[in-house]
Amino acid sequence: MTPADAYAELVRRSKELGVLNSCAAVLGWDQQTYMPPAGAALRGEQMAFLASLAHSKFTDPKVGELVAAVEGSDLIADPEGDAAANVRELRRAYDRATKLPPALVEELARVTTAAQQAWQEAKPKSDFAGFRPHLEKVIALKREEAAAVGFTGHPYNALLDEYEPGATAEELKGLFAGLTAELAPLVQEITARPNKPDRSLLERDYPVERQKVFAEAAAAAFGFDFHAGRLDTTAHPFCSGFGPGDCRITTRYNPRFFPEAFFGVLHETGHALYEQHLPAEHFGTPLGSACSLGIHESQSRLWENQVGRGRPFWDHFFPRLRQTFPAALAGVSPDAWVFAVNEVRPSFIRVEADEATYNLHIALRFELELGLISGDLPVADLPGAWNDRFKALLGLEVPDHARGCLQDIHWSFGGVGYFPTYTLGNLYAAQLMAAARRDLAGLDDDFRRGEFGRLREWLSRKVLMHGQRYRAGELCRRATGEAVSPRPFLGYVREKFVSLYDRGSAA
Ligand code: ZN
Repeated sequence: MTPADAYAELVRRSKELGVLNSCAAVLGWDQQTYMPPAGAALRGEQMAFLASLAHSKFTDPKVGELVAAVEGSDLIADPEGDAAANVRELRRAYDRATKLPPALVEELARVTTAAQQAWQEAKPKSDFAGFRPHLEKVIALKREEAAAVGFTGHPYNALLDEYEPGATAEELKGLFAGLTAELAPLVQEITARPNKPDRSLLERDYPVERQKVFAEAAAAAFGFDFHAGRLDTTAHPFCSGFGPGDCRITTRYNPRFFPEAFFGVLHETGHALYEQHLPAEHFGTPLGSACSLGIHESQSRLWENQVGRGRPFWDHFFPRLRQTFPAALAGVSPDAWVFAVNEVRPSFIRVEADEATYNLHIALRFELELGLISGDLPVADLPGAWNDRFKALLGLEVPDHARGCLQDIHWSFGGVGYFPTYTLGNLYAAQLMAAARRDLAGLDDDFRRGEFGRLREWLSRKVLMHGQRYRAGELCRRATGEAVSPRPFLGYVREKFVSLYDRGSAA
């Protein structure tokens, strides 16, 4: 078999797996949206069957032979060529999948299933003691996983690699240190201002049917293609890109709190635009797949926060909003509205945190995860460490574990190394937006006219169309001219929130 034949066969197998995984994605979407409750057991069997089929196809030794045949050939002479990028990422995934002993994979599945159950019971009761033995098992297995996968530097790097290939604990420590050193005092400075937004504006009657129409209009304005996607309702909002021509987003409506569904839709629209702009011809291969979780999150945060919570966006949309909800918004000024949707207020729950305080929640989790995985922080000491660090970063006493170390689902499913991708997303979003503003003069005027095509096209060209051709760090350097840094985000927070809080809603 020539290297060219080996590569063609590798691509064929990869695309076949892409189709198989997209079938599982359809079932997963249906499970969260329309499946009747009694279908759960069969759905579990269907999903487990597809997952094991995909795993055995991908870990077939033949795949390893094909990867090796292409690696040893001229096909990868150009490190940015199609074959080089596809083979680099298939090698990474293949090694990861084959290095994990099947017994460890099964044990992880068993322990995390029990841990999620235990977490769901422990959280409402703030019962850390009930969750602790499960978390101890999860952490022990994640350390075994890191050892099996292999790493240089911190063992955390082996876990991070699953979500953010190429990122390291050492690099992230530097990013978080630079970020929190300025962000924590900046949040204090902003919240010490006497002006406060009137958040009651957000907690009025917003009929769900009208919320849906309004959110769909904003998603369509951003460029979500409803001919190639749908918006449905779920308990836990998500975006699932099945593949070319079909991307599903979901949201959750609260008739008495406008931001929940609306900003949720803008967020998922950002994810969806990524999926809808991946190169269809590469579907199923790394070149047709998103770069990393951090880059994926940068797209959701960019559209939700950088654009959707900005004044220019509301210059266009607020008059329409007031027409849509005349009872709730009669007499409300655009200034009061923009101030209200940008309130900065330290709070206990990460998923409810505002743009400015959010990354402090992540910095806390990142530090604690490092300690849990290195063994420096025993699970028994987690609540104390959480509460101390929370107080230092956000200035609040944690009242109970439900609002402290038991609030997130991630550790119960073994998602250690996942949290930092949220902050990377915020940093990439700010850095990309700053670069887009340098490249595209008058972007805010576009937004004031309800036009987002130039920004979308820029993002597509700089980020979306590349799939996994470059690792996230390199993609960022190419798109923005610089390595990822907390500076654009800190500059954005200072400029936006200090002026909002200085001006208040008086104008
Ligand atoms: Zn997201």
